[in-house]
This record gives sequence, C-alpha cells and structure tokens, in this order.
Amino acid sequence: MEYRTLPHGGEKISILGIGTSSIQTADDKEIEETIRTAVENGINYFDMASSEAKPFSAYGRAISDCRDKVYFQIHFGANYSGGMYGWTADLDTVKCSVDWQLSTLKTDYIDFGFIHCIDGESDLRMIEKNGIIDYLLRLKKQGVVRHIGLSSHTPKLVNQVLDMGILDMLMFSINPAYDYAGGELDYATDSYAVGSVAERMALYRRCEAEGVGISVMKAFSGGQLLDARTSPFEKELTKNQCIQYALDKPGVLTVLLGVRGKADLQKILSFCVAPQEEKDYSVIGTFAPHDAEGHCVYCNHCAPCPAGLNIGLINKYYDLAVAGDKLAHEHYHKLEVKADQCMKCGHCNSRCPFHVEQMERMEQINNYFKKK
Ligand code: SF4
Ligand code: SF4
Repeated sequence: MEYRTLPHGGEKISILGIGTSSIQTADDKEIEETIRTAVENGINYFDMASSEAKPFSAYGRAISDCRDKVYFQIHFGANYSGGMYGWTADLDTVKCSVDWQLSTLKTDYIDFGFIHCIDGESDLRMIEKNGIIDYLLRLKKQGVVRHIGLSSHTPKLVNQVLDMGILDMLMFSINPAYDYAGGELDYATDSYAVGSVAERMALYRRCEAEGVGISVMKAFSGGQLLDARTSPFEKELTKNQCIQYALDKPGVLTVLLGVRGKADLQKILSFCVAPQEEKDYSVIGTFAPHDAEGHCVYCNHCAPCPAGLNIGLINKYYDLAVAGDKLAHEHYHKLEVKADQCMKCGHCNSRCPFHVEQMERMEQINNYFKKK
C-alpha cells in the first residue's frame, strides 16, 4: 500500500480508502471481516457517511484492537436515529448522532470531523447559525476532533469554506465524467457534477496549495463510467483507470471505494499490484470533450522521455506554482531533471492523447522557474 501525507498534521493516509455506501448489503460478520482484512492489507482510511446505521457496530468490533492504526471521517450532519441515514442541521441531533457514532465505534476521538454534505450558501449559513461549526471547533480545541473536513460537490461552496481557514480535508467527487462532462447538481438523477473543468481543477490546486487533503468520492461516477451504455463518453473505463485518474489530481490523498464484502475488497486491493498499463487512463483524451484538449492531465502516457523528464510531475508542479503553491516551487527545484533538459525531440507531442504542445510548454515552464 502506498501512503500520502496529510499536510496539516503529517498523518500517513493510504491511497485506497473505504466508503460505507455499499457495505451494508453484507451481514455483520462479513462487514467485520472485510474491515479487518482491509486494515491487515494497509488500508487505514474509512469514511463513515453510511446509508444505514448497521455497519457502525461491526466497524467498532473490527478496529477494537487497532484503533490507533485507522482514521475515521465522521460526518456532523448525518443522523442515524431511525436506523437509516438522514441529513440534519439541528445541533442537538448532530450532538446525539456524534455521541452514538463514537460509542458504537468504541472510540473517544474523531480523526476527521466533517461538515456534512453542504452545497449551497444557505446551507452553510444555516449550519453556522445553528452552531455546528462552533461545535466542531470546540471539539477540536478539546482534542476530541483532530481535524476538520468538509464534504461537498460544489466548488463555489468549497471555496467559501476554504476562505474560513478551518479545513484540513475535503471530501469531493472526482472522476473524468464530472470533470469533463460538467452539469448541475441533481440528487434525483444522481448527477453530482458541478463546475466547469477549469473551476474544478482550480479547486484541486487550491487545496494542494493550502495543504488541504482531498478524499475522493464517486471515483467511478456511481458505476456509470464502468459501462459503455451508461458512460457519458459512451466508452467504458476500468476501476483501475478511474482510481489512477483521481490519484493524479492535485491535493488528492486517498480514493474512497465502496465494497460489498471481502470479494470486492480483494478486487480493489489488486490496484496496488496492477501494472502501470492497466492504470493508464489517457484513452479519455480520445473521447473527452474539447475542454480536455491541450491541457496536461499529468497521466504520463507520453513517457518515457529520452531526456529523463517526468513530464506529468513537472507539469503538475508548474500548474500548482502558478496557482500560488510555494511548496511546488521547492518540489520543482529539487527535481534532478528539469524542463531545461528538454531536447525538443517531439516524442511527447506525438504521444499525448490530449494534444498538449509539450515542447512549447517545457520552454514556458523553464522560463517561469528560471525567473523565480
Ligand atoms: S503531456 Fe499529455 S500524455 Fe503527457 S502527461 Fe500531459 S496529458 Fe499526459
Ligand atoms: S520533447 Fe522534451 S519533454 Fe518531450 S519527450 Fe522530448 S525531451 Fe522529453
């Protein structure tokens, strides 16, 4: 398992995490064994926005002797009092639900306390007015909550909360369909894509620049991308391609995957040993809309570069530096082979499915960092 470091705190988070949206279909024993197997295989990040109350007690049993090895995302606004999930902005209900989640998980602290699923300014104002953000801040001061997070689908709203300077983690839906097919937020049709590709990419870069990690939800677009009949591109992608796509976005620390039991878990874990060719998602350059044209998505499909440049990484550091990420400057300058080594062979231009003029871009990147 590979791990990425949370900038605010230094926790090492597994690149594969587990979501709770599908596990409730298994029985208690299977849930417990699945979570144990996940931990044994190095997965340490678990989102707890479940659709039912059912998995919590099995999770509690599964991690009873390894609580210090796992991180939980607990949602302040998910209510399970009726046995099923319900959204709430009522402070007393939130307090009761959080207490219940802590006792059922057999723990007395929360690694990531999340402002839960808000997409509009009115929701943000309501939870502020109702004291939910103050409650989270108080618990953080007391050490009960270690980090504050936000789950949302809307870049504009996320930017507003980032402006408040309280976030360490963001849970956001990232996949090629949402990035390139855009759309309106519509829970009824299960369409959660908001914002143009430029707006969404700018958000990922802002998170990276400000040290806010991203845990990715809906990496397969609710399964739509895995089937040509439902994919907005009319072509299917594999799970490994979708996972790698999300992991290549700036700021992303972990991709949360839904599993229905041990068999699904084993399939997900196979990502860790899959060859690079199976994770190569550059095929989206052949069917994504024109928005994708000419923009490097850091996929490294153009490798190998005869001069030894890591083309995807150089492009990522450049985009981040331009977005104001000071660390990206340092990272770039630490690279052994930089843009000035490009010998303009044209190999990357001919290989890039997104038609990025990479030779020109390397010159631009070199000029940019030379001046800094
Ligand atoms: S230049 Fe093209 S192929 Fe190379 S990393 Fe960027 S998008 Fe991928
Ligand atoms: S043009 Fe430059 S960056 Fe691209 S493959 Fe050739 S040497 Fe590498």
